[in-house]
Amino acid sequence: MNDSNWSIPGSSISPETGRGGQANTAPPAAEIARAVELLRAGDLVALPTETVYGLAGDGLNPVALARIFEVKQRPLYDPLILHFAEAEAAFAVAREVPAAALALAKRFWPGPLTLVLPRREVVPDLVTSGLPKVAVRVPAHPLALALLRAFGGPLAAPSANRFGRISPTDAAAVRAELGDAVPLILDGGSCRIGLESTVLEVNADGIRLLRAGGISVEEIEAFAGPVERANVARGTAPLAPGQVAHHYAPRKPLRLLAPGETPPTEPGAGWLAFGFVDCAANAVIKNLSSSGDLREAAAHFFRSLRDLDDHPDVKIIYATQPPAEGLGLAINERLARASAR
Ligand code: AMP
Ligand code: MG
Repeated sequence: MNDSNWSIPGSSISPETGRGGQANTAPPAAEIARAVELLRAGDLVALPTETVYGLAGDGLNPVALARIFEVKQRPLYDPLILHFAEAEAAFAVAREVPAAALALAKRFWPGPLTLVLPRREVVPDLVTSGLPKVAVRVPAHPLALALLRAFGGPLAAPSANRFGRISPTDAAAVRAELGDAVPLILDGGSCRIGLESTVLEVNADGIRLLRAGGISVEEIEAFAGPVERANVARGTAPLAPGQVAHHYAPRKPLRLLAPGETPPTEPGAGWLAFGFVDCAANAVIKNLSSSGDLREAAAHFFRSLRDLDDHPDVKIIYATQPPAEGLGLAINERLARASAR
């Protein structure tokens, strides 16, 4: 909660790493116990992860799952990711686990990687939108892991925002998005990664990228060999939040800038910049990373977009696209969808 005294403020970005701060203190037993009580009753809890804040509910309870869709105003055709404290529990809901999935989990879990595997019967249809596969992940945030352990089962936890809007990367953003619709918001500071997980479908004959995210495709490929990614660009992957054309959207119009372009000199221009910016630029500027660091840019991305959206002097947002390499690919994907209206 915002008023709890154990949490660190959601605004801390460490100057050494450019990454969001996370609570180092032991998670508070009372807050965890309260969260578990709510979850067991089929209620929802907002929780921090290293990617973005999630709106969590009991992943095996259809009432809780229905509530997630209701609070987010999310269409039922968008499947949810199940979160687990350990890989063993995650793989227990899968009918088959290809060797590559085991290896990826060993290398990248806990972390911002989601694996899509054939589902077992135990997984409710609401989780998978009726698809034959289920998406599973072990998150890396200490507070999320503490809650998962205490709860003792999977949590479905899509981003804690209304469908199609900007993902929250701190507790204040969750409050702004969902207000009183969620009875408890666990505050774990700013999200370290700041982008949703990378989603991979792992089959016996290969790995397919369904959503670019917090671990770059280059890093996956360096470890696991070639990853098929054509479907992401074509947008033909299974429908899901990250997959719909218009998503991650601010309320104000957002226009993408061509490489090297600066925003027009007009009153009300906001600039979501990346890299060096001429200080004569005539706009309200949020620079994702003045040094051009893509990890820093990812960590600042959703908060900066939200700040420009909320800024009283900004009427239109212009965005510089970072290079489409490393985490830049995931940032550009989200920018393209945010500008798609
Ligand atoms: P999020 O709302 O951030 O938790 O992420 C949902 C994402 O998980 C979607 O963008 C899909 O790429 C992916 N996803 C979840 N469940 C499935 C599934 N059963 N099959 C394919 N992709 C899935
Ligand atoms: Mg989302």
